[in-house]
Amino acid sequence: MAEFDVDLFVIGGGSGGVRAARIAAGHGAKVIVAEEYRMGGTCVIRGCVPKKLFVIGSHVQQEIEDAAGFGWIIPEVRFDWPTLVRNKDKEIARLEAAYTTNVERSGAQVVKSRAVFEDTHTLRLATGQTVTAKYVLIATGGAPNHGAAIPGIEHVISSDEAFHLPELPKRIVIQGGGYIALEFAGIFAGFGAVVTVIYRGDNILRGFDEDVRKHVRAEMEKQGINILTGCTIDKVDKHGREFITHLSNGSSIACDKVMFAIGRHPNVANLGLEKSGVAINPKNGGIQVDGWSKTSIDNIYAIGDVTHRVNLTPVAIREGHAFADTVFGNRNVAVDHATIPTAVFSLPEVGTVGLTEQEARAQFSQVDIYKAVFRPIKATMSGRDTRVLMKLVVDCISDRVLGCHIVGDSAAEIVQAVAIAVKMKATKADFDATFALHPTAAEELVTMRTPSARHVREAAAE
Ligand code: FAD
Ligand code: NDP
Repeated sequence: MAEFDVDLFVIGGGSGGVRAARIAAGHGAKVIVAEEYRMGGTCVIRGCVPKKLFVIGSHVQQEIEDAAGFGWIIPEVRFDWPTLVRNKDKEIARLEAAYTTNVERSGAQVVKSRAVFEDTHTLRLATGQTVTAKYVLIATGGAPNHGAAIPGIEHVISSDEAFHLPELPKRIVIQGGGYIALEFAGIFAGFGAVVTVIYRGDNILRGFDEDVRKHVRAEMEKQGINILTGCTIDKVDKHGREFITHLSNGSSIACDKVMFAIGRHPNVANLGLEKSGVAINPKNGGIQVDGWSKTSIDNIYAIGDVTHRVNLTPVAIREGHAFADTVFGNRNVAVDHATIPTAVFSLPEVGTVGLTEQEARAQFSQVDIYKAVFRPIKATMSGRDTRVLMKLVVDCISDRVLGCHIVGDSAAEIVQAVAIAVKMKATKADFDATFALHPTAAEELVTMRTPSARHVREAAAE
């Protein structure tokens, strides 16, 4: 009789868990995936995918506005939020089913239940049934932070609820200056809402390149999005169907919805971790892992958002795949977390890969900056007041392109391709040797010949 019921028990059927289960099953392992909510996890059910569908829908307004300059006479248009939500739900249900089918086709079994640890090798399901496993993979993801318990916090929604609002709020106040706050600011503004972003620091998108931060803020403000910095929401009052948000600077704003997008925390609570002996990383509250995603317990691994390393879908997928190859495929694979491209699907979009100017100047003694700020060709006819930012950060000594930062239409699509070159350690000379593809916005990346700035660090005094 086998020592364990299964070779691998995966807790969580999200991006990382599903990839790990499928690859491990492909290597011949007997696998169970337990999912307490919906297969596909955050990305598919209430993250990247529904968000991108909303973003695409919200861009239509600009297309309609821009059309007049190209001769289109568009009669009055109307937008119907319930149709958007219904059609999005249909697509998400299709994807959820596809995720389940794909896992089952790989040979792994899906169990629709919460799972918690009884001990290092034993999991308990919601029915009370227990399953023993040689290896356990914790892939439970994360959840929205609610912040301090301010008066009226019960009226505040997170991104989870934003996907299911019965109607489009006419006015919304969003707290946060990161990915989710800015993406939803663009979504709601695109659909016609009056949007106010409240951010506690001096400028949005902390950690991004300074030029990107300034540029995207200015562009969002041109689209009519109000961005208030240096303040927080201290209290929310409800008056009938209306909310009054009270800010730390003494002012208040009336609106129909208040949303917080102030970060996410790893799903580690009530998992029975104390029974498994798995250690938490004191620095970030996620599960502590080594370079192979192994926890403090030899047979237990953790991947994706629950480890709070880099909370992006492709990272969770890569970590899940590497885990399965390492443990079941006889191939030691560690994930290289350097040079991960990322995008903020705001209005306009931000795409970025590699080092910011500030990071490069801290790490390299001579850094060249190539920067272009220009009016995109479409705006010449539409009349829209908008500018694109393209920026390359180059190490003068090796000529390597260290970073690429774009704000404008299709920034994410462009940066995905540029990321290959940056990952391959392409030089500025390689960029220069590449033919331009005309007329595009991205051709700027291979035609910027003169640095807009050169930063040479003074040698330290003897
Ligand atoms: P998840 O996908 O969160 O999966 C974890 C699963 O575990 C969940 O389904 C949960 O129900 C289940 N679970 C938890 N506890 C248990 C338990 N005890 N038993 C059983 N099941 C359990 N990333 C990008 O790269 N690009 C984007 O554009 C992007 N947009 C985003 C937009 C939003 C609004 C949000 C919130 C996130 C976005 N992300 C994006 C981040 C991305 O969704 C996550 O990084 C990714 O989903 C993490 O995958 P995961 O496998 O670690 O966890
Ligand atoms: P982010 O970490 O991106 O941003 C959180 C924002 O909230 C920051 O501006 C932060 O300010 C602010 N904040 C944090 N705590 C408080 C507080 N107590 N009071 C007021 N403001 C606060 O988190 P998000 O929630 O936007 O997204 C979570 C993660 O999900 C992202 O980091 C990303 O990994 C992933 N994601 C990726 C997307 C993509 O790839 N396009 C899209 C959406 C999410 P400060 O900067 O000062 O700390």
